[in-house]
Amino acid sequence: MPEAPAPHHTRALRDAAGLAAAGLVPAAAVPGLEAVQARYSIAVTPAMARLIDPTDAADPIAAQYIPRAEELVTAPHELLDPTADEAFTPVPGVVHRYPDRALLKPLLACPVYCRFCFRREVVGPDGGLLTEAELDAALAWFERTPGVREAILTGGDPLMLSPRRLGAILARLAAIPHIEVLRIHTRVPVADPGRVTAALAAAMGTETALYLCLHANHAREFSSAAATALARLTQAGVVLLGQSVLLRGVNDSAHALEDLFRTMLRHRVKPYYLHQLDHAPGTARFEVPPEEGRALLRQLRHRVTGLAWPTYVQERPGGAGKVPLGPVWEVG
Ligand code: SF4
Repeated sequence: MPEAPAPHHTRALRDAAGLAAAGLVPAAAVPGLEAVQARYSIAVTPAMARLIDPTDAADPIAAQYIPRAEELVTAPHELLDPTADEAFTPVPGVVHRYPDRALLKPLLACPVYCRFCFRREVVGPDGGLLTEAELDAALAWFERTPGVREAILTGGDPLMLSPRRLGAILARLAAIPHIEVLRIHTRVPVADPGRVTAALAAAMGTETALYLCLHANHAREFSSAAATALARLTQAGVVLLGQSVLLRGVNDSAHALEDLFRTMLRHRVKPYYLHQLDHAPGTARFEVPPEEGRALLRQLRHRVTGLAWPTYVQERPGGAGKVPLGPVWEVG
């Protein structure tokens, strides 16, 4: 679908009333959604709102960001903290689950709040920004932990930081002799591409190899503004990888996945992971069973270039790490 003209709002929509005023939810739904917003943050950027076709009840962009009343229903198998980050936190803001790499979470704000987010209990606009002292302590932890060769900035979304603050964090990590690789997990280049200014891209131009994992789930998220943002990053020497979540109503067809992976490649984003949904509370409507995921990928094999092929993975509960879900082929 071509991009619609910009709606009149220029700021992110952050509550049910705002969504109704923008024509993205019916007015009658507002009271129910206000109960949802009291528990889970809402944000739809102008860039994403512009991509939504409000006349399409099955719009794959709307499905990712527009809240639904059923989010307050937690299924028996859904967990409050599916990745169990808490158990692996040596100092605030750091998660050390594997010997050779660790996460740094400088803030918990995101440009948008995805309805299926596995960190939905903790992400939000108000919380989680490390103080200068906490950030200093977190970076000091990386400096004194020589087994860690890769520092992964996540959150929240690290590209919500100012270029100055992001640049300072990256420079300090890049100066650590045992850190060989930097990685940033972000949704900003598609969800709020205007944030990728020349200054932000320059902050990522480090000597140490920097990989940016772009979270995108549908080909339509790659707007012309997103293309500009991604081009700016590649010009700064950033290597782009794609990670997606397999989501009912967003990308649960071979056609949608093919389109997504091919679109990533055209924007120099190598599809890296396709994630099975984590069982965060109130996300059951997005579930696609693994056997269906495997069948979808089987349809893509030989139809798309191997470059477009991500690893289909599931996070095991309790922080036990990722396992590949296949599909596998017998050779013989
Ligand atoms: S951008 Fe990432 S961390 Fe933020 S709400 Fe979406 S999935 Fe969660």
